[in-house]
Amino acid sequence: MMRTAARQAFPQYQNRSGWNALLPPREVRDRVPTSRSFASVVIGAGYTGLAAARRLAELEPDREVLIIDSSELGEGSAGRNSGFLSCGPNEPRANRHGTVDEAAARQIRIYKAGLDWLRSLVETHRIDCGWDESAPRLHAAATPAGERRVRASCSKNRRWGIECAEFDRSELTRMVGTDYYRYGYRPESTAYVQPAALVRGLGDTLPAAARLLERTPVLKVEGKGPFTIVTSRGDFKADRVLIANNVHARALGLLRDRMIAIYTYAALTPELDPSELARLGELPQWGVIPGHRMGTTLRKFQNTRFLVRSGDSYEREMPTARVREMLTELYRRRFPQMASHVFEHVWGGVTAITHNGGLYFGQVRPGLYAAAGCNGSGVVRGTIQGKLLAEMACGSQSALLSDRLALEGPNWIPPEPFRSIGVMSSIALEQFQAGLER
Ligand SMILES: Cc1cc2nc3c(=O)[nH]c(=O)nc-3n(C[C@H](O)[C@H](O)[C@H](O)COP(=O)(O)OP(=O)(O)OC[C@H]3O[C@@H](n4cnc5c(N)ncnc54)[C@H](O)[C@@H]3O)c2cc1C
Repeated sequence: MMRTAARQAFPQYQNRSGWNALLPPREVRDRVPTSRSFASVVIGAGYTGLAAARRLAELEPDREVLIIDSSELGEGSAGRNSGFLSCGPNEPRANRHGTVDEAAARQIRIYKAGLDWLRSLVETHRIDCGWDESAPRLHAAATPAGERRVRASCSKNRRWGIECAEFDRSELTRMVGTDYYRYGYRPESTAYVQPAALVRGLGDTLPAAARLLERTPVLKVEGKGPFTIVTSRGDFKADRVLIANNVHARALGLLRDRMIAIYTYAALTPELDPSELARLGELPQWGVIPGHRMGTTLRKFQNTRFLVRSGDSYEREMPTARVREMLTELYRRRFPQMASHVFEHVWGGVTAITHNGGLYFGQVRPGLYAAAGCNGSGVVRGTIQGKLLAEMACGSQSALLSDRLALEGPNWIPPEPFRSIGVMSSIALEQFQAGLER
């Protein structure tokens, strides 16, 4: 029987984020403000929403902005991801503003600005999130087909001016402790973070004009300005609304024909002892991005634990027992020599996927703005999209904003039932094609 898409109003997960579980308890900001009227309301406190709220408050310090999240900082996708930060372009496309190479150059300029801004926030506010730009992010292949793809991506990056260092099997084995990978490269301008610590830090250091309200799902946005923001805890009014709740923007009536929800899964080991850590290569921290998009991401985290991320499911989370079994098998396959393959934390998270890889950004109608669709790689992209969206909403102009407006947005996705049939058969086919990259 064919499953139809379940479109929830906000994310609800089976398990806590493993990253968030590693952090000390934090005081959740869930007290409803006495004022119900704000200059702006931002919906969603992930990287996009937090950047938008921060930038609005910087540009308009006398006008209050309320940022609302259905969950708490660290429990959304922003605190569930693998913590890889990258400036690499995502499926650049030619359009009326220029060639593929020009689109790639625009994306690189935008994402580098996002990485620079994030770094400066981490430094200024001393956000203790393990920011690390020295550990290698390796794009590595286990199969001949994967190697062809990874080599092609290395050449493209070089053409676009991104420096890359290449490694063969023996060098990779020394770095990561397994001979599973036959070829890999390391691009410049990448960083690692503990993602829940980063998102908490960003939310807890917002400027005075930005007010955060957690554990409050937004159910509807009504009106044409002023807008009424209907939440589970009463209504708010705002002249301006910025929608930054990623794939759940669909439940607010936006981008239903542009994005789908794909869940992906991660697990963290307990703290490993020195002999086990030594089996994960000589470097204290590293990460591997697979040679196929349905493949497995790995990360040795600050010489303490190991992360495995893999799996894709359409619109629904898979049962935890199945996820644990899948991730354990993928871990064991790469590191049979480890004494144990037990995970302490296993969790899923939702990503917004678009058909052509394009991200949505812009004014939906006067006073209503949205940025969404980060395609599984939204730490840097979401941050810079949120910042630029706030600048656009305030009427600022910049070369970077012009760059962003010149990029292709997401294209049309057919409705159900064709959508489910298409997506589920393509997941099955691609998982098969990924072979040992999984
Ligand atoms: C397992 C996993 C690994 C990943 N690895 C990486 C990685 O290594 N690097 C990378 O860059 N990206 C990675 N990603 C993707 C990345 O997490 C997302 O692209 C990023 O979080 C998107 O940021 P965002 O702010 O646009 O959306 P989100 O982070 O999803 O934030 C949206 C927020 O809106 C809230 N919300 C939703 N609906 C409502 C509502 N109705 N009312 C109020 N609030 C609402 C949610 O609670 C959420 O906090 C990964 C994702 C997963 C799941």
